[in-house]
Amino acid sequence: MKAAVVRAFGEPLVIEERPDPEPGPGQVRVRVEASGLCHTDIHAAHGDWPVKPSPPFVPGHEGVGLVEKLGEGVTHLAVGQRVAVPWLGTACGRCEHCLSGWETLCEQQVNTGYGCDGGYAGKMLARADFAQPVPDGVSPFDAAPLTCAGVTTYKALKVAGVRPAQLVAVSGVGGLGHLAVQYAKIAGATVAAIDVTDEKLDLAAELGADILVDARKDDVGEVLKRYGGAHAAIALAVDEAAFSAVHSGLRRGGKLVMVALPAHGTVRLPIFDTVLGGTSVIGSIVGTRQDLAEVFQLHAAGRTRVIHEIRPLESVNESIEAVLRGEVKARIVFDLGAHR
Ligand code: NAD
Ligand code: ZN
Ligand code: ZN
Repeated sequence: MKAAVVRAFGEPLVIEERPDPEPGPGQVRVRVEASGLCHTDIHAAHGDWPVKPSPPFVPGHEGVGLVEKLGEGVTHLAVGQRVAVPWLGTACGRCEHCLSGWETLCEQQVNTGYGCDGGYAGKMLARADFAQPVPDGVSPFDAAPLTCAGVTTYKALKVAGVRPAQLVAVSGVGGLGHLAVQYAKIAGATVAAIDVTDEKLDLAAELGADILVDARKDDVGEVLKRYGGAHAAIALAVDEAAFSAVHSGLRRGGKLVMVALPAHGTVRLPIFDTVLGGTSVIGSIVGTRQDLAEVFQLHAAGRTRVIHEIRPLESVNESIEAVLRGEVKARIVFDLGAHR
């Protein structure tokens, strides 16, 4: 099988031929059909974060494909079944977080494409209990971006407790943001979409955003305050300054949900405004298996649209550059060819 491998941080990925991996007990081998390029994969390949993966590794946590081989003891999945292999590759199932519905906070978790090889490959291994069945009628190319971009933004809106009649600011309309806009609309909110390219703002409008804010020329905080301020601001732009900008547009009692992970990111917050305004800042990391099941269910019901550009895995390095230049409409999804 072929795989795109990070051999050293900051170096181009290398396409390698590797032997098919053998599933151990509790694992399955998946023949990958589609694999999304999340901005997190770029952070991984660059070694951007304090906790780093160990090269060589295969990135990718939006891999979707067909179960090809069952490891010992796997009884609830069948060969030929379509599954998605998300960032939460496995968790302990026993700690307070796992037991209280917060498995995404488990300290023992292993992350796909980071702590173990991921979906930029023709075949991959998955822990069967964390491989998410994809409902019939959801194409692998739609399922891939939903597996991280979808579940992450769906969860961020849940964490913000968004209700109808609220104003939600979505800062960054990329892979994550184009789905965030849609989940906020499904929740009944008025949506202000913020970005720095005309294409992303046009896309946000097409997906139902009510207010468009061009952060290149508009003062984000001022525009949001003109509408009374945001009840929730979902920070998805890979830019520190964008966090402070959208924070300044919160209304009293509003919540900033931090999702993007710019390298070495820190945010300075005004204490006075935070105290008197009773605002909160919340970190939000992906979503649980149940969240992902809900995301797939919404898509199968025709409630969301996934915007993707399908490319071969061999284009991985140009594709990463295109994401960094902001030239991708929403999500790049690699075609691993298994569906043909
Ligand atoms: P992306 O590159 O597809 O999208 C980023 C968007 O931000 C682009 O549309 C870009 O034009 C826009 N942008 C850049 N500067 C801006 C600014 N100043 N103001 C407004 N918009 C601006 O990236 P993505 O795949 O959507 O990922 C976004 C971030 O979220 C990454 O840092 C990624 O690692 C992180 N992430 C976090 C989680 C989590 O669980 N917390 C999950 C997935 C991804
Ligand atoms: Zn991701
Ligand atoms: Zn745990």
